Amino acid sequence: MPILVMKFGGTSVANPDRIRRVAKRVGVEVAKGYDVIVIVSAMAGKTNELVNYVEETSPLFDAREYDAVVSSGENVTAGLMALTLQEMDIPARSWQGWQVPLLTTSAHSAARIVDIPTENILRKFDEGMKVAVVAGFQGVSPEGRITTLGRGGSDTTAVAFAAAFDAERCDIYTDVDGVYTTDPRICEKARKLDKIAFEEMLELASLGAKVLQTRSVELAMRYNVKLRVLSSFEEQSDEAGTLVCDEEEIMELNVVSGVAHSRDEAKMTLISVADRPGIAAAIFMPLSEAGVNVDMIVQNISEDGRTDMTFSCPTNQVARAEEALKKAKDSGEINFHDIVEDTNVCKISVVGIGMRSHTGVAAKMFKVLSDEGINIKVITTSEIKISVLIDRKYMELAVQALHDAFELDKAA
Ligand code: ADP
Ligand code: ASP
Ligand code: MG
Repeated sequence: MPILVMKFGGTSVANPDRIRRVAKRVGVEVAKGYDVIVIVSAMAGKTNELVNYVEETSPLFDAREYDAVVSSGENVTAGLMALTLQEMDIPARSWQGWQVPLLTTSAHSAARIVDIPTENILRKFDEGMKVAVVAGFQGVSPEGRITTLGRGGSDTTAVAFAAAFDAERCDIYTDVDGVYTTDPRICEKARKLDKIAFEEMLELASLGAKVLQTRSVELAMRYNVKLRVLSSFEEQSDEAGTLVCDEEEIMELNVVSGVAHSRDEAKMTLISVADRPGIAAAIFMPLSEAGVNVDMIVQNISEDGRTDMTFSCPTNQVARAEEALKKAKDSGEINFHDIVEDTNVCKISVVGIGMRSHTGVAAKMFKVLSDEGINIKVITTSEIKISVLIDRKYMELAVQALHDAFELDKAA
């Protein structure tokens, strides 16, 4: 039997009623002759609630116990989905990550998938099971501890299963009907794309478009998984949603194809560090060891052998970063005058493969922001994207102004 992977996000399984609704979708695919692997997220809001419990209990928590707690939301929805399917006379059972087993590294809260042995589930399909319901987001480390794959990680579970089982397609059902030119929740002119290239999706995801976890796009690209994003709230045809595919499959490429935003960014500046060889390593090594995800980095002009070093990281990692830097200062590895934090910034990015061959995108982006009176604090670029850090209060305005200026509401 051909295998199909169907993933349902939090809002799609928010309560028993919604679970029944999406179970019917699964039934449609079973009736077409597929063996289906369903990957479920926790009910909407559940993972946040669990994260809050952990942070309330232990601010600088043990990541292994964090994973034990936050992975539990998916266990509930996997069991409920299997029960719902059984009520519909569809042979189904649930699998937690460790039961499959979905083997990962030991990098707790950001584990990577190492292997997914297929024998157990394939045997059950051979025995007549039609649907394997798998708890997304979770796996097991070589030490036998429960791991999680980072927020939004069920997308990655889904794509990894599609690759491991050589599935015909991986359908990601969510609360929007595809990938848009920007987040439809903050820009009403956002346009749904029928297709988007892997590389563009990869950039959009890593720059904050949470519709797909970045790692899931990387995996789909590497293993050539046919990946589709579509709505669990509407009747779906086989052509619905957005197909994430190779660049060659897209006829017209826009210079800019999307605008992404990332709300919870923080900017930290180390004032007056000695400007000497090895200083960047001395600053960023302890940050990396403390698990801080540093994103943008700017080193200012040096004066009298001293310089300021600015970097950005997620807001919830500021305390960790500060602790690591103060420890490095106390041990004499680095010396700085002060740390200045700005936790009210956000990152806005424009993305497009067409930028490779077109100039002027950065200049246009900066002009649009300046016309709106928005000050740019940090800039970074790559071949197909430009990102800026700005005050968070201008986030919606910046996204909308850029969407208008690059005419993303119009098809190429
Ligand atoms: P799920 O719970 O199904 O995994 P997520 O909340 O993780 O859903 O992702 C879907 C959300 O991603 C949408 O509700 C939308 O607000 C947001 N989003 C951000 N950027 C985009 C984009 N470019 N296209 C579509 N959705 C986007
Ligand atoms: N429930 C997890 C989260 O909210 C994983 C997921 O939904 O993909 O991040
Ligand atoms: Mg998600």
